Amino acid sequence: MELNKRQLDILEMVKEDGPITGEQIAERLSLVRATIRPDLAILTMAGYLDARPRVGYFYAGKQPTQSISDNMNTMKVGDFQSIPVVVSESLSVYDAICHMFLEDVGTLFVVNKSTVLTGVLSRKDLLRATMGNQETEKVPVHIIMTRMPNITYCTKQDPLLKAAKLMIEKQIDSLPVIQETKTGIEVVGRITKTNITAAFLSLADDHEL
Ligand code: ADP
Repeated sequence: MELNKRQLDILEMVKEDGPITGEQIAERLSLVRATIRPDLAILTMAGYLDARPRVGYFYAGKQPTQSISDNMNTMKVGDFQSIPVVVSESLSVYDAICHMFLEDVGTLFVVNKSTVLTGVLSRKDLLRATMGNQETEKVPVHIIMTRMPNITYCTKQDPLLKAAKLMIEKQIDSLPVIQETKTGIEVVGRITKTNITAAFLSLADDHEL
């Protein structure tokens, strides 16, 4: 179960200063007792807090890791994705390398004239294409890219955990976030290992690092 900000605040307060009465908790939050009654009921029913008559609330010892894993399961690709950088199939390897530097990304997505996703270019794809090749201005990226149907992708609605699992399983650094249109698959975002790290860090927001 996902706790809201106020419930997490109450939990922290009780952990540190319990036993503490409902009135005292409300007073510290500058709220009236009635406002926090549902929060206290949720925290008690979910096993985070125990209540004793005339003593107050105290921490029941439920590990916060449980709520962290609950939080992880609610994270969606759409909440953490970045803007994709796309190039056309006819762009030269040389220009793609310039693009990668200018846009400061590790992966470029390749699209055809109808903006349909056709390929992926990684740093090492481009590096490999330059080895022993002096004419990178003349080689179009569609010759060297990883192409459909071998591209692994995800959608905005997918759980972030699914995207993380795909990146590990396929040993790749990023996934295009796509949407299906009448003409084919279009790129609307990208998910990278950096996005996954940011999501991981967001789980620690309520904790001191
Ligand atoms: P690098 O090649 O710089 O280590 P990656 O690990 O992301 O970067 O890429 C490894 C290989 O997998 C490359 O050949 C690349 O074209 C391909 N690749 C990268 N992303 C995808 C993807 N989403 N789907 C399919 N292949 C991909």
